[in-house]
Amino acid sequence: MAIVFLYQCPTLGLRVQGWAEDAGLDDGAEAYEAVACTACGRTHLVNPRTGHTLAARRAAEPAVRR
Ligand SMILES: [Zn+2]
Repeated sequence: MAIVFLYQCPTLGLRVQGWAEDAGLDDGAEAYEAVACTACGRTHLVNPRTGHTLAARRAAEPAVRR
């Protein structure tokens, strides 16, 4: 079953509608779907449950010091 969700394109910062087939029903809350972005034409990894992209999540995390 396909679901429709909104996410924010990390390239352009626009709200984009995406959809995914069988949106990780068995994969838990950390499942990311590869979505072909209709705004910028790239592929983003998006969590359909939260609308967060993997790029945005990485940017939000504190930098790791080495
Ligand atoms: Zn995009």
